[in-house]
Amino acid sequence: MSAHLRQEAGEVERALARLRELALKLGAEDARPLPAGAVVVRDWVRWKCRFGCGEYGRRLTCPPFSPTPEETRRVLGEYGVCLLVKFGPCVEAGYDGGVSVHEVMFQLEREAFLSGYYAAFALACGPCPYCDVCNVREGVCRHPDRARPSMEACGIDVFATARNAGYPLKVVTSYEERPTFFGLLLLT
Ligand code: SF4
Repeated sequence: MSAHLRQEAGEVERALARLRELALKLGAEDARPLPAGAVVVRDWVRWKCRFGCGEYGRRLTCPPFSPTPEETRRVLGEYGVCLLVKFGPCVEAGYDGGVSVHEVMFQLEREAFLSGYYAAFALACGPCPYCDVCNVREGVCRHPDRARPSMEACGIDVFATARNAGYPLKVVTSYEERPTFFGLLLLT
């Protein structure tokens, strides 16, 4: 590896460490770098949205409006490294005044962009929480600066991706158990 490439790799590593620190400060439980190639995309994921999720078609960041698995595969092919952010079972995926996965991921994208990683893009978890009723009727988002699709809305298999990052995620089997949430920052 040339000195220039080594320097570039070191800079990305330091940026990932800084973004991890920020994620923790904002309320995430953990965050790990992940090669973009380790993000798993499956066509069946959107079937779970279409048949089984009450929010299907109700948010502009959800299917059928969100990127298809084909598009997600193509876009992921343009990235080298991501940051997978883990939110403990004690937080909500929505914006409820506590830790909001969407808001934290937006802040991480913003910070990465302002640090020079102009291609940074955040994916959150669950339906977009910013409006009580999404503007689906007019098809125009009211908060385009910060509304981002969830990983699963884009066809990402979150279980497989989390396992690839070393998080042994398991299925929640009762309402007493709280799920763990994930967001993904595509960095460069
Ligand atoms: S910000 Fe509002 S209008 Fe935009 S996707 Fe989210 S809920 Fe819909």
